[in-house]
Amino acid sequence: MAEPEQPTAFQAAVSQMLSELDPEPTREGLAATPTRVEKAMRFYCQGYAEDPYAVIGNALYGSETDEMVVVKDIEIYSLCEHHLAPFYGKAHVAYIPGDKIVGLSKIARLVDVYARRLQVQERLTQQIAKALDEVLKPRGVGVVIQAAHLCMMMRGVQKQNSSTVTSCLTGLFRKDERTRAEFLSLVGK
Ligand code: ZN
Repeated sequence: MAEPEQPTAFQAAVSQMLSELDPEPTREGLAATPTRVEKAMRFYCQGYAEDPYAVIGNALYGSETDEMVVVKDIEIYSLCEHHLAPFYGKAHVAYIPGDKIVGLSKIARLVDVYARRLQVQERLTQQIAKALDEVLKPRGVGVVIQAAHLCMMMRGVQKQNSSTVTSCLTGLFRKDERTRAEFLSLVGK
C-alpha cells in the first residue's frame, strides 16, 4: 500500500482550523476538505501569479476612434481580505482612447487578474483603472463596481440586500461632466 501523502503546510493549517470549528473534525465528510480547500483557495488567488500589465499590454491596437468604449456587466468574484469571505457582483469599465485601444476580452481578463487576489472593493476598482490608464494612456478611464459582500450579508449587520458601489474616474471622466454622465447612464448608475 502506498504511503499516505504528507499534507502540505496549507492543508495542515486547514485541518487545524477544522479541528477548532467542528466537534468531529475527523469525520468522513471532512477527510478531503483540506485538499479541496487548498485547491480552491489557490484558484481564487491565482491572480497573484499573473501580470495585469502584460494581460493588456500584449493586445494593443492603433485607435481610429475617440468614442467611449464601454464593457458592461463583467462578473466579478473575489475574496475580501478582512474575512476571506467572497464578494461578487458586476464591474463596468470604460475608456476614451488616445492612440491605442485594447482587445475587449482583455478588459474582462484584467478584471479577473485583480479580482483573484485578496481584495477590498475600493482597491480592486482603483487597480483596474490605474492599469488601463498607465498602459493605454487613454483620455480617461471609468470603472464602477457593484458588489455584495458575504461578510456583511452572513454576519454582523446582516444587511442581506445591501450592495456596495465603488467608482474610479480619471481624465475626461473626472473633468468632463457630460462624459461622466454618459458613462454612468450607460452603466445604469
Ligand atoms: Zn469582509
